[in-house]
Amino acid sequence: MLDCIIVGAGPGGVTTAYHLAKKGHSVLVLDKASLPRSKPCGGGVSPAIAKWFDFDFTPVIDNSITQVQYTWKMGDPVQAPLKNVQPMWMVERSAFDSFLVEQAVKQGAIVKPNTEVTSIQAQSNGWQVNTKTDTFAASYLIGADGVNGPVAQWLGLGDHQYTLGATLEVPTSKPPEYLNRAYFEFGLLKNGYIWNFPKSKGYTISGGILRGNKANSAELKQQIYNYATEFGLDTSKSSYCEYPLALWRENRTLHTQRALIVGEAAAILDPLTAEGIRPSIWTGIKAANAVSQSLQGDTNALAQYTEIVKQEWGADMVLAQRLAGIFYQFPKIAYKVGVKRPAAAQIMGKILCGELKYGDITEQAVSRLKKSLIPGMK
Ligand SMILES: Cc1cc2nc3c(=O)[nH]c(=O)nc-3n(C[C@H](O)[C@H](O)[C@H](O)COP(=O)(O)OP(=O)(O)OC[C@H]3O[C@@H](n4cnc5c(N)ncnc54)[C@H](O)[C@@H]3O)c2cc1C
Repeated sequence: MLDCIIVGAGPGGVTTAYHLAKKGHSVLVLDKASLPRSKPCGGGVSPAIAKWFDFDFTPVIDNSITQVQYTWKMGDPVQAPLKNVQPMWMVERSAFDSFLVEQAVKQGAIVKPNTEVTSIQAQSNGWQVNTKTDTFAASYLIGADGVNGPVAQWLGLGDHQYTLGATLEVPTSKPPEYLNRAYFEFGLLKNGYIWNFPKSKGYTISGGILRGNKANSAELKQQIYNYATEFGLDTSKSSYCEYPLALWRENRTLHTQRALIVGEAAAILDPLTAEGIRPSIWTGIKAANAVSQSLQGDTNALAQYTEIVKQEWGADMVLAQRLAGIFYQFPKIAYKVGVKRPAAAQIMGKILCGELKYGDITEQAVSRLKKSLIPGMK
């Protein structure tokens, strides 16, 4: 019997596998896709993740961002260098994710692609995990199967709030002129924003609807294409893909008997920026610690996992949601007071690089926005 089965070989699942295997536990990762697989994603990764691993990510960093440009309806541009933050990494997800898989395998994890988990059964001493052709058994189960995966639901932990995102991959015949500049457009897409990340092979343009319950897929597509055209790109060879986003909600439980959920299966996405890679990796590390401690007899370790994620990530996401609620409801004013001012441009840059806690800025930002919304308010 294995120590742990992980469903999903994305950044969340593979990080869990890497750290569990490194601690000497037996780990099997099952993924329904053939690997390497692509995932609709902007591919912006906070360099803050480097400190959580003992290998070098250089082989999969396509380029780095040192400058940001913000626009409102493609006009009113603000350019700002990213001061006092490490440059944000740009990665191709298939390369980045398969590099992480390689590292986990080097630590001793077994990774099985083309293996869709079709059901799970609780046992007295762990879990039986079923695929179309096989069954596997382990003491612990991790659901790291992303926003579309079934495991959170099967475990009774799947009360998620979904919105919609999309990417348009636009290849270019030569590398973009400003490979170090990321673009953020706040006026075109209602209830969300568009982010455009340059890579050496072209641009990845992403859009995310981050407020409200009724994501308008047709509008999302139209605005992303409008953006690409106004940006001056030829979209004749581009590929477009929509994908759900699972935003953080308060008071979510992330564990049950001998099982945890991590990454987007646990809906850890930042509701203001749609950043998901860093929190998926972070929850993977915390999940590996929890399972390892539990294997050593700590009966409270899985419950502690829920508490740690709630306190160290979730509490900040509640503030992010509060900020997003106002930001995307009154985007024009938010752009003026929350993005355009030189200090705000830096703060936004830090948020996007994962180097700022929302707790440090939310009160001030909300009060600044309210003052602009309500004339005469001090
Ligand atoms: C349009 C868009 C743009 C984004 N841009 C960014 C960005 O620039 N930066 C950022 O940080 N985040 C971004 N994100 C978020 C980021 O892509 C996700 O948060 C991240 O991929 C989550 O990682 P994960 O490991 O939890 O899940 P995933 O990467 O989704 O991996 C889940 C894995 O589970 C597998 N799986 C599912 N069901 C089963 C099953 N039944 N059996 C076996 N395997 C299964 C899947 O095949 C998949 O490989 C973006 C998201 C979208 C939609």
